[in-house]
Amino acid sequence: MNTQELFETFRDAAAHPKKQLDAYLAAGEKVVLTAPVYVPEEIIHAMGLVPMGAWGADLPLARSKEYFPAFICSIMQSILELGIRGEYDGASAIVIPSLCDSLKCLGENWKYAVPTIPFIPMTYPQNRWGEVGTAFTKAGYERVIADLEKATGAKFDEEKLTASIRVYNRHNDAMRRLAAALPRHPEVTARQRSDLFKSAFFMKKETHTALVEELLGQWGEGSQAGEKVPVMTTGILCDSPALLDIFDELGLRIVADDVAAESRQYRTDTPDGLAPLDALSEKFARMGLCSVLYHPKKERLEYIAKTAKEKGAKGVIVVLTKFCDPEEFDYPLLKKACSATGLPVALVEVDRQMEDFEQARTLLEAFKVMLV
Ligand code: SF4
Repeated sequence: MNTQELFETFRDAAAHPKKQLDAYLAAGEKVVLTAPVYVPEEIIHAMGLVPMGAWGADLPLARSKEYFPAFICSIMQSILELGIRGEYDGASAIVIPSLCDSLKCLGENWKYAVPTIPFIPMTYPQNRWGEVGTAFTKAGYERVIADLEKATGAKFDEEKLTASIRVYNRHNDAMRRLAAALPRHPEVTARQRSDLFKSAFFMKKETHTALVEELLGQWGEGSQAGEKVPVMTTGILCDSPALLDIFDELGLRIVADDVAAESRQYRTDTPDGLAPLDALSEKFARMGLCSVLYHPKKERLEYIAKTAKEKGAKGVIVVLTKFCDPEEFDYPLLKKACSATGLPVALVEVDRQMEDFEQARTLLEAFKVMLV
């Protein structure tokens, strides 16, 4: 494939998850949905099942409101809405981690709203370090394995998990190299950049890794040059085509991100030298720099300011999912950390139900004027 065809493939996968799901099912594969964030996909992969991201979609919410109050995040509401509408029909189970209060509600509501797709909880500890933390995480993984065996009939095998960990570590490496190469390619639009990350949730990791490596092989060095204004994004999700088009129309170029659905996924590898389930638990202990992962010193905030500076961003754009408590709590501290290094910050509130982004356009337009 040439570069254009590669981008078309990423776009197709990112824009049509249902098509991917139907193709897996037609090929006789069993699919397990993975809700945000940090589901141990390696376990699902090792059991011969296809993990597939369930991050919701931009759509009007109707039925999910029967289960949720209006003031809860729309990512979760839209996952439930899609489940009720039958968009995930055919999936064998959904794994939902417990990393924020809203996600805890999603699992409980899912049981009643979508009884045809079994809900499997992944209960993570907040204090994830040391013997106690990793033992708790491991017990959570063992529970997921038992539930997956019951829901799908598939069997868990430690050796296969070792092989799957290698597949995922390789994908992490490819995605980190991709993120590092993107600032040298000003020709990549904000939407194309989003497609590169979003498609990873719906494609098999081996396939996605091969495509990303092919793209990197074709790219060569690239150059920093370009007319656009470099910025860094942060938030849980930044995939709305309407918003991304505004970035492109205004000439704002994303040179780095701290987005949960993008780079945050790929920062930590599973370490070598431990039994596979212990290694996976250790990986979770080593993760950090994320609003949903407890860290008393909040190093994440300085990390964002430092990364923005290193990558040459002139400002940080916080893409805040409405009613996302973990991100809202971090925002004042993030603003302080960025101000301390002279980095301007803009806050754009987004919602999966939003159709009109003109308010965001005005804000980003004014922000760009500040940066140039
Ligand atoms: S967007 Fe925020 S509130 Fe919603 S599921 Fe993610 S962390 Fe939780």
